[in-house]
Amino acid sequence: MKLLASALFCSVVCLAAEKADLVITNGHVVTMNAAQPQAQAVAIGNGRVLAVGTNAEMTRYTALRHLKLNGELVIPGLIEGHGHFMSLGQSKMQLNLRETRNWDEIVAMVRAAAKEAKPGEWIIGSGWHQSKWDRIPQPNVHGFPLETELSKAAPNNPVWLHHASFHSSMVNAAALKAAGIDAQTPNPAGGEILKTDAGQPTGLLNETAQGLLSGAYEKYQERRTPQEREAYDLKTIQFATRECLSKGITTFEDAGSSFETVDLFKKLAASGELPLRLWVMLRVGTPEMRQRSTNYRMIDFGDSHLTVRAFKRVMDGALGSRGAWFLQPYSDLPSTSGLNTQDLDDLRAVADFAINHDFQLCVHAIGDRANRETLNIYEQVFRAHPDKTDLRWRVEHAQHLNPADIPRFGQLGVIAAMQGIHCTSDAPFVRARIGEQRAEEGAYVWRKLMDSGAVVGNGTDSPVEDVDPIACFYSTVTRKLKDGTRFYPSQCLTREEALRTYTLNNAFAAFEEKEKGSLMPGKLADVTILSKDIMRIPEDEIPSAKVLYTIVGGKIAYQQSQ
Ligand SMILES: [Zn+2]
Repeated sequence: MKLLASALFCSVVCLAAEKADLVITNGHVVTMNAAQPQAQAVAIGNGRVLAVGTNAEMTRYTALRHLKLNGELVIPGLIEGHGHFMSLGQSKMQLNLRETRNWDEIVAMVRAAAKEAKPGEWIIGSGWHQSKWDRIPQPNVHGFPLETELSKAAPNNPVWLHHASFHSSMVNAAALKAAGIDAQTPNPAGGEILKTDAGQPTGLLNETAQGLLSGAYEKYQERRTPQEREAYDLKTIQFATRECLSKGITTFEDAGSSFETVDLFKKLAASGELPLRLWVMLRVGTPEMRQRSTNYRMIDFGDSHLTVRAFKRVMDGALGSRGAWFLQPYSDLPSTSGLNTQDLDDLRAVADFAINHDFQLCVHAIGDRANRETLNIYEQVFRAHPDKTDLRWRVEHAQHLNPADIPRFGQLGVIAAMQGIHCTSDAPFVRARIGEQRAEEGAYVWRKLMDSGAVVGNGTDSPVEDVDPIACFYSTVTRKLKDGTRFYPSQCLTREEALRTYTLNNAFAAFEEKEKGSLMPGKLADVTILSKDIMRIPEDEIPSAKVLYTIVGGKIAYQQSQ
């Protein structure tokens, strides 16, 4: 009898004490799961969510680790919807020009870097933006400086300074020489070597003209041993990973990497050395795409840390550098309507290959013409393949739209992969570039797109912007500029909608909504915990929220230092 009683007792206790790896209690859990929108607690085991519920319901778990919060916000792991992972890592290892206020400051930073560099070593920087400068450089061409001061600051080192948009670069004489660019060099298709009235290169290279420089830089890099190169790339990945995790990002949708970079991601994912998850678009030439890409298609590789199932193409440039391709000329430079950087027949061929081999297609389109041409090609290819449905092809940025094209996203099932933060960063010069009417009708129109049935994703285009999702969330819900004004606030999203763009919608845009984007039993245990409840605090306090924990697959991958 006694034996039976103890056996019974054991079975009750053992049932009561289910095992979990991590239990989070006493939070404000916003799940993004419509069936259970809010909760207090989450239990995690084997890398997945076991349960979401009240604190009391979690007492049935014995957990290896228990995070007891003070009501802080617990949300699904944030997904960066469009960024450049390797460039982000590199930007952390190079001159950061994002906060510079004028050309003189940039020259001074390069002068200091040149003192440290060996002769011939390249000096790379990024993040400058002429519209953020407090004075126009003298002399200048279209507001851009000449290379003279930069060349004096670094006479023995090629200097390559990427614009914040990465759609143009400023370089010095040594870099022009390395790239073989002189007064006689013609503009390449889809690009421009900006020259003085006397015909001398100014040092500014627009769009594809930057390719001349990449060739020279690659030659410089090729002189390194394969070991040196891999060590550099691994360090780059480490920097990018650390940056993303510290900002609460659990999945990064990478807007374009080479086969070689994917090889490296794969190696790390296979050995469990990739602490965050990557979803990667292949950015490769069309012949290589045909030859090699089907060997690179992979879904949930390395315990769901790496997916490759999309191609990237770039239809035009950026608005700031007047490279975005418009139907009508720029308001502040009527001689141009921007640049088409992608051959349309080639894009049709890529689209055909993608649809036949089950790849998504992701086309960068900023200007309204670039968006229309992209939608036209998507529509043609979809019509030619009526058997293929649920394709989730994407337009990256979808930044400036003609009103006639806005409803086409929803109608065609094309995802608008947008960046909330670009709106408030660009706002100071948008009306100058395209005028009031185009700005109001079609600039960063998340609300109109959503209301017409499109899925809208969100992100930062890092390193164009800081990869910080909180700043981007704030821009998305307020469209508020530094000076306090708002850029067409009728297009703001609610906080609930903005969080959806950063979680479920980005997951959907990658075919990952069954695994990610909400907190519910069975899904991957990717969780972000913030110091302030950005769903409820006064709007102006949102930017001061910090990331406390970033949890990927149930493991605490980042914890704010106390
Ligand atoms: Zn991009």
